[in-house]
Amino acid sequence: MKAVTEGSGGRIANAIIIPMIAVVVLAVACVFGLMIWSSQTSDESAVSSQRKLLEGAVKLKLDQIIRQQTGTVVWDQAYFKSASDIPDHSWLYNNVGLWLDETYGFSRALLIGRNGKVTFSYDRELSRTWVDDSLLNELNTVVSRVRAKYITSFKRTPSGLYRFLGHQQSDGNRLADTGLVSMGNEIYFYAASAITQEAHTISAIRRPPAVLVSFEKMNQAALSKIATISGLNNLHMVTRPSPVASLATAELRSVKRQNIGYLQWQANRPGTEMLSQVTPVLLILALAIIGLTIGVMDFIRQTTKKLASSQAKAVHTAQHDALSGLPNRSQFAQLLETALTKSQTETDGSAVVYIDLDRFKDINDTLGHAAGDEVIRAVAARLQAVVPETGVIARISGDEFAMLLTNCDSQEWIEHILTRVQDQLVRPIRIENNELHVSLSMGAAMSPRDGTDPGELLRKADIALYDAKGNGRGRWSFFDPSMQEHVLAQDKMSRELRKAIDEDALDVAYQPQYDANANRIVAIEALARWTHPDLGPISPASFIPLAEDTGLINDLGIWVLRRACRDAHRWPDLVVSVNVSPTQFKHPRFVEKVLEILEDSHVAPGRLEIEVTESVFASQHKTILTSMKRLKDLGVKIALDDFGSGYSSLSYLRRFPFDTLKIDRDFISNMDQSAEALAILTTIISLGRALGMATVAEGIETSDQVIFLTKNGCHRMQGYFISRPLTGSGLEDYLEDWAIRRAMEAESAAEGQRHRAPLRAAEA
Ligand code: C2E
Ligand code: CA
Ligand code: CA
Repeated sequence: MKAVTEGSGGRIANAIIIPMIAVVVLAVACVFGLMIWSSQTSDESAVSSQRKLLEGAVKLKLDQIIRQQTGTVVWDQAYFKSASDIPDHSWLYNNVGLWLDETYGFSRALLIGRNGKVTFSYDRELSRTWVDDSLLNELNTVVSRVRAKYITSFKRTPSGLYRFLGHQQSDGNRLADTGLVSMGNEIYFYAASAITQEAHTISAIRRPPAVLVSFEKMNQAALSKIATISGLNNLHMVTRPSPVASLATAELRSVKRQNIGYLQWQANRPGTEMLSQVTPVLLILALAIIGLTIGVMDFIRQTTKKLASSQAKAVHTAQHDALSGLPNRSQFAQLLETALTKSQTETDGSAVVYIDLDRFKDINDTLGHAAGDEVIRAVAARLQAVVPETGVIARISGDEFAMLLTNCDSQEWIEHILTRVQDQLVRPIRIENNELHVSLSMGAAMSPRDGTDPGELLRKADIALYDAKGNGRGRWSFFDPSMQEHVLAQDKMSRELRKAIDEDALDVAYQPQYDANANRIVAIEALARWTHPDLGPISPASFIPLAEDTGLINDLGIWVLRRACRDAHRWPDLVVSVNVSPTQFKHPRFVEKVLEILEDSHVAPGRLEIEVTESVFASQHKTILTSMKRLKDLGVKIALDDFGSGYSSLSYLRRFPFDTLKIDRDFISNMDQSAEALAILTTIISLGRALGMATVAEGIETSDQVIFLTKNGCHRMQGYFISRPLTGSGLEDYLEDWAIRRAMEAESAAEGQRHRAPLRAAEA
C-alpha cells in the first residue's frame, strides 16, 4: 500500500515534470530555429544585394568598353575605310585593332562589313582560328541589333531625305550592344558599335553600317576592378559553383542567354556572423534555463515525493496501530467490508476471529506498562507469522486482536489456523528476565453462515470470544446462536443490576464473627444480596463478577458500604466488615467517599473494617496502596481476605501492615482431611500473632473446627456453624438471643456448667 501511494507521488511529479521540460526544450529549440531562419534570410538578402552590386559593376565595365570604343567608331576615316568593299587591312590593323588593344587592352576585334561579312579581325596573339562559326553565330544577333538601331536612327525629312540622328541619342540607346561571350575556355566582355560619320549627315538612302566588335578578356585584373567597385572579396571565375556555404555565386550568360560560367566571391553573411556571435551566449543562456528548469522540476519532484510519502505515512498512521504496526480497528473494519462485498460474488466464505490476551491486565499491573507493550508487540509478531497470505491481523484495542480470513471454505481450515495461533504461544515470551506464559482466547464467526454484514459478524465473533473466556481461557469458540442468548441474558442482567442499585433494591446480609476468648460476637461481615424480581435470589458469586465486568462494582460497593454504615448504629459494639474490590480502590475519590459515608452515618472509623483480597496487589497502582494507607491512618481497619488462596501470600504481608488476616475457607474445610491444612492453619495463626494481626477463620461449619481454632489462638470465627448471613432484623434477633444465652451461661457457669455452643438465628 505504501509503495502504491509513493508511486502515485512519483507519477504526479512526472505528469508535471516531463511536459514542463518538454515545453522548455521546445521553446529553446524554437528560439534557435527562429535565429537560424532569420540569419539565413538575412544572409540570402545580403547575397542578393551583393549580386546586384556585382551586376552593376559588370554593367559599368561594359559601358566603359562602349565609351572607350566610341572614339574609333565615330570617326569619318574609319567610316570610309570600313565602307569600302576592299578593306585596308593594314590601316585597320594599326588604327583600330592595335590602337584599341594598346590603348584599352582590347585583345581582340572584329569588323563586320556592310554586307554582314567579317572584313577584318584582330588578335593580340595573331591567331585567326578564334573567329569560328559558333562565335559568328553568337554575334549575329548582336550585329543585327546594332544595325537595326542604326537604321532606325534615320529620320525621314519632308523633302524625302533621311537625316541621321544617332549621335543625339542618349547613352541607353547608343548604337551599340555589349555583353559577355565565351571563346574557347575563356570569357570576354564585348562591345559592338556601328561605325558612323562624325557629323550629322543627310542622305538619300539608308544603308546598314559596318559594325566593330571589340573584346576584352575577363581576366583576374578585370575581375579585381569589378571586385573593387562592387566591394566583393576574392572575386574569381569558376565553371561550376562551389558548395562551400561561405561562397556566393552569380551566373554568367552569353548573348543567347546560355550559361558560360560563374563568378564566385567570399560572401558577406551578416546573419551567420551574428549567429556565430550570439550562439555561445544563447547556448549558455539555454543551458542555464534548462538547468534551472531541471532544478526547479527536481525540487518539485522531491517536494511532491516528500508530500506523497508524508501523505502515505499519515494514511498509514491513520490506518495502523502505532505499537504493533498492525492495521487498527477502522482499517480492519474497512478491509472486512471490502472482503465481504467481494465474497458475495464468490463462493468462498470469510471468517472473523476475535483474539483476546488472557489476563493481560494482570501483566500490565504487575510488570508495568512497558512490559505490557512488549507483550503486545511479541504477540502481534507471532500472530502475523501464522496469518495466511489472504488474511489480515489487526489490533482492535488494548489486548484485543482481530483476524480476517478470506477464501475459507470450512470450519476445519479455520480451526487449523487457530491451532497454529495457539501453538505460537506455547513458547514463553521473554521480557527482561521474566519468561511469560501467555494464553489467548478466540472467538470466530463465519460468513455467510453467521451473517454477511460486517457489524453482525464482529458482534458474533465477540460473543464467541466471550463464550471462550467464560468456559475457561486459552481456548476458542465458534459462534453458536445459543451463545447469543447467554450474552443477551448477561446484558439484560447487568441492566437489571444497574436498576437495582439505582432503585435501592439490593440488600445486605450480615454474617457474625465470634470471638472465642471473649465468648461473644465482635464483628459482622456485610455481604451484598440481590433478589431478582423474576429469578429470585441471585448469588453474589455470579452478580459480583458481572458488576466487575461492567464497571457497576464502584456504585454497588459504595451502596453496600453506605447501607452497612447506616445499619451499624443498630449494633454499636460490633465492627462492620465490608468487602471492597480493587477496582474501587482505583477510583480517585474512593477515600473521600468512605470518609463522607462514615461522617454521614456517624460511625467511628475504628468500627469499619475493609476486606481486600490478594488481587489488590496484582496491580502496581500506587493509588491503591496510598488509599489503603490513608484509610488505615484514619483508623479504618484493613483485612486481607481469602488469605492463603494465592501462592505468594506471605510477600503481601510485608508490603502492607494489615490489621486482620482472613484465612481462606479452603483451609478450614480441608482441616478434617489434611494434616497439611492443619499445619498451615496453625502456621498462619502464629504468623498473624507474630505480626500483630488479628486472625479470622471463615467457613466454620463444625464444632470441632471451633475447638481446634480456639485452641490454636484464632481470634475470630465466621461460618455457618456460628451463623449464616442474616438480614438486619435477623441479626438483631440473633444478638438478642446471644445476650440471653450469655446471661444463662453466666448463671450456669456459676453452677459450674459451661455451654459454649453459639446460637443460630434466621438465615439471610
Ligand atoms: P467472601 O468475602 O469470602 O464472603 C464469604 C462468603 O462465604 C459469603 O458468600 C458467605 O455467605 C460464605 N460463607 C460464610 N460462611 C460459610 C460457611 O460456613 N460455609 C460456606 N460454604 N460458605 C460460607 P457470599 O455471600 O455468597 O459471597 C460470595 C463472595 O462475594 C464473597 O466472598 C465476596 O468475595 C463477594 N461479595 C459479597 N458481597 C460483596 C460486596 O458487597 N462487595 C464485594 N466487592 N464483594 C462482595
Ligand atoms: Ca469477605
Ligand atoms: Ca472470604
